[in-house]
Amino acid sequence: MAKALVTGASSGIGLAIALELARAGHQVYAAGRSEKALNDLRASHANITPIQLDVTDREAAEAALEGLQIDVLVNNAGIMPPLGNFADMDMADIDSALEINLSAAIMITRMVVPQMRDREAGHILFTGSAAAHSVFPGMAVYSATKAAISGFAAGLRADLSPFGIRVTEIVPGRVETALYKDILDAETRSAMYSASKAVQPEDVARMVSAVLDLPEWATVSRFDIVPTRPT
Ligand code: NDP
Repeated sequence: MAKALVTGASSGIGLAIALELARAGHQVYAAGRSEKALNDLRASHANITPIQLDVTDREAAEAALEGLQIDVLVNNAGIMPPLGNFADMDMADIDSALEINLSAAIMITRMVVPQMRDREAGHILFTGSAAAHSVFPGMAVYSATKAAISGFAAGLRADLSPFGIRVTEIVPGRVETALYKDILDAETRSAMYSASKAVQPEDVARMVSAVLDLPEWATVSRFDIVPTRPT
């Protein structure tokens, strides 16, 4: 069974992936910032080891990963900056989106890749977004971070496939999570996530588990998972 590091495992898609992989028998290192959520995770499954980590903190990430063998890396931590016209966007929100959604994923991947290359085995997944591949007004910076992740995943696959390392880009559409909690009021969010419309985090996690179950010679380079019914 694999040792998997999942970032952004304290809620939403990352939490669902951590739980699904633990149930499948993998050893899961679940990284996030929220202490309470991490304590709940520790109690939820014997296979889960929580790691309190702000992914933008390079020294903390290096310390957390020191000595760990990682077979599967799920770069999932991400934020949605406030929606709106780019002309009005706060510089601090731009910085945060670039650091959390893009730079941190590249940095953590760089920390983990050498050991995978030495073992000639490993699987790296990224939670990208449909916003990387379609236009959603008011999301220019978020889309830019996810399009960059898509490009990085493709380049990484080209570099690492000769070593038997697999790279998968997860491309979700609207998933019912807390992603918009700081930028939309509760009523708008609940309309957006009505049960018949949105993908559930567990749906994404089941796909991730299926992708990991494939034999080492087969790679799912990208999968899209979107609501069946349009809004
Ligand atoms: P959530 O808000 O539920 O989860 C986001 C996760 O990222 C949390 O666990 C949060 O942990 C973590 N996170 C954010 N900032 C940091 C940080 N600086 N350091 C460490 N962890 C951090 O939303 P989702 O589950 O929806 O988001 C997961 C991924 O899915 C994101 O990359 C998002 O862009 C992507 N996505 C989501 C879609 C959706 O419709 N929900 C659609 C397409 C893609 P904590 O708060 O503990 O720091």
